[in-house]
Amino acid sequence: MTDSLEKKPVRHLLGLSGGKDSSALAIYMRDKVPEMEYFFADTGAELPETLEFIDLLENYLGKPVVRLNADRDFDYYLQLHNNFLPSPRQRWCTVNLKLIPFEKFVGNDEAISYIAIRADEPSRSGYISKKPNIHTRMPFRDDGITIEDVENILESSGLGKPKYYDWRSRSGCYFCFFQQQEEWAGLNKYHPDLFEKAKEYERPDERTGKLFTWNPTGSLDKVVQKANSKNVQCKKPLISKKLIENIAGNSDDNDGCLICMK
Ligand code: SF4
Repeated sequence: MTDSLEKKPVRHLLGLSGGKDSSALAIYMRDKVPEMEYFFADTGAELPETLEFIDLLENYLGKPVVRLNADRDFDYYLQLHNNFLPSPRQRWCTVNLKLIPFEKFVGNDEAISYIAIRADEPSRSGYISKKPNIHTRMPFRDDGITIEDVENILESSGLGKPKYYDWRSRSGCYFCFFQQQEEWAGLNKYHPDLFEKAKEYERPDERTGKLFTWNPTGSLDKVVQKANSKNVQCKKPLISKKLIENIAGNSDDNDGCLICMK
């Protein structure tokens, strides 16, 4: 039997999104699976806080986090989709910028993909690779790890949570359509330059004149206006602590994105 016919070892892969669950899983698995390969599918539209946290995590893990860059960027795929912005029902962004780069990274190798689904989350499917050579493992679910444990893992590591959790409930692109009104207001407040860039994507359809918007309730200016006026009426700060807790506590609802936001 020649070397070339010997079976290749199974690869162990853990995808980081810059979110708290996948970060905690990486910390949790670091010493359990030393041969783990970490990767991060950068959409090119990540928040600066996410990129900063991935760097910190890489340092903590003591291994490189492979940056997967899609061959083409968001604007290329937007054009390919006739300038229709992605939406919860049309998730072409996740497929092209996250899922396909991941599958290319694995190729035909036998691999175990470690997914950060917690024990206190309902069953979820979708946006996990269905390729037969990629096998899924969920150590948090197997070991009964809940949101409280995740918070503890991050705290005890000394890393804590990425800074965007002060105003946003999930990782992902700065213009992600899953954001709540108050999170758009947060983007406007903390990253006005990115908010303006997100606004530039909202434009009328050349044929129908209909405005494509990130949020189904209207243009980003209107969304932020509404969020701010709610706060004026309530005489509360722009983003209340309770709201952040509510959003964070609901981070496992089924409109989230396993690849982008865990
Ligand atoms: S974070 Fe949102 S906008 Fe970005 S790829 Fe994921 S679903 Fe699409």
